[in-house]
Amino acid sequence: VREQDTVSRLGGDEFILLLPDTDAPGAARVADKLLQAALMPFQIEQHELTVTPSIGIALFPKDGADLDTLSKCADAAMYRAKGDGRNSYRFFTSEIQAHSDRTLLLNNALRRALERDQLELHYQPQISMETGQTVGAEALLRWHHPELGAVSPAEFIPIAESSGLILPIGEWVIRTATAQLAAWIQQGMKPITMAVNLSSAQFRHADLPQLVTSILEDVGLDPGLLELELTESVAMTHPLGAIAVMDDLRQRGVRMAIDDFGTGYSSLSYLKRFQVYKLKIDQSFVRDITEDPDDKAIVGAIISMASSLGMQTIAEGVETEGQLEFLRARGCTEAQGYYFSRPLPAKEFQNYLRKAALKLF
Ligand code: C2E
Ligand code: MG
Ligand code: MG
Repeated sequence: VREQDTVSRLGGDEFILLLPDTDAPGAARVADKLLQAALMPFQIEQHELTVTPSIGIALFPKDGADLDTLSKCADAAMYRAKGDGRNSYRFFTSEIQAHSDRTLLLNNALRRALERDQLELHYQPQISMETGQTVGAEALLRWHHPELGAVSPAEFIPIAESSGLILPIGEWVIRTATAQLAAWIQQGMKPITMAVNLSSAQFRHADLPQLVTSILEDVGLDPGLLELELTESVAMTHPLGAIAVMDDLRQRGVRMAIDDFGTGYSSLSYLKRFQVYKLKIDQSFVRDITEDPDDKAIVGAIISMASSLGMQTIAEGVETEGQLEFLRARGCTEAQGYYFSRPLPAKEFQNYLRKAALKLF
C-alpha cells in the first residue's frame, strides 16, 4: 500500500486498510493485489498452506461518513465475499444493506419467537411405495410473526444457526414433534415414524444423544419411531465425529437419515460407516426426473447404491404421477411431496391420514 495508507489489525484474523483519496477502481486494484499476494504458499513443517482472504470494501462518503458505519458496511460486504466462496472481494451495495438489515431484524424477532408462541410445526406425510400407506411424517418448522408475516425456514434457520438460537428452537422442535406423535398414538393412530431435521449446531452439540433420549422418555415415545435428518454436507464436514454421534444415537434406538442427498460430496466409504437408515434423494433431482436423462441416471444410481448398502430411500419433492411411477419402477422405498400433500398443521394432518386410509394408490 501507499505511504499515506493505514493497515491495522482489528483482532483475530480481521484487518482494516484505510486508503485515503482512493476511488472504487483504486480500491479494487488494492484488493486484487492483496489476493495475488495471498496466493503465495507458506511452508510450515511438511505443510504447504495458503490463505484465502475475503475482502469487503466500503467507500467514504457514499457508504458512511464515519469509521463505525464504514467498517460495519465493509464487514457486511466481507461476509458476502465469504458467502460467495471466499478468496475474493465485494463492494458494499444497497442489496447487501437490505439483506443485513433484514438479518438483524429477523434475528431480534426470532429471540422472542419461542416465548411468544409464534413457532409451529407442520407435518408432511411420507408414503410407502409398496403399500401406498403413510408410514411417516416430516416435521417442518413454521414461523408466523405478527408484523413480518410467515417467514420461510430457508430464510430464518441459517440466521438461527449463526446466532445459536437454533439450539433452544431445535430442542423445542424435537420435543413438540415427538410429543405430537405420542399423543396421536395414544388417540389410536397406527404408529408412524416422525422425521425431524437437525441443524449442524445441534448435531455438533455434545449433549445431543442424551437430550434426545431424555425427551423421548419425557414424552413416552419409542425411540424407533424417531428419525433424525442430517444434511449430507453436515455429515461429511467432520465425518469421524459424525460417525461417533450417529453410532451413539443408533445405540439409543434412533434412526438417522441423510437429507438432501446428492447435493453434497459424499465419500462412499464414509457413507457405509455412517450406517444410516435412509437416504433422502434431493428434490432437485426429482424435479426433472421424467425428462432429464442425467437426473434419471443419478436417481437410479442412488437407489441401487442405497439398496446394496442396505439403506432405504425416500424421494423428496414428488409432485407428479410420472415422477412417482419412475421412482417406483426403480425401487425407491418411499416418497414425499405435494403430489400426496403439502406439509399440514397437526389437525389437518390427522384428517389427511383418515382420508388416505380409505384410498390407497
Ligand atoms: P428439507 O428438510 O429438505 O425439507 C423439504 C422442503 O421441501 C420443505 O420446505 C418442504 O415444504 C418442501 N417440499 C415438500 N414437498 C415438496 C414438493 O413437492 N415440491 C416442492 N417444491 N417443495 C416441497 P420448507 O418447509 O420450506 O423447509 C425448508 C428447509 O428448512 C428444510 O429442507 C430444512 O432444511 C429446513 N427446516 C425446516 N424445518 C426445520 C427444523 O425444524 N429444523 C431445522 N434444523 N431445519 C428445518
Ligand atoms: Mg428434511
Ligand atoms: Mg431435503
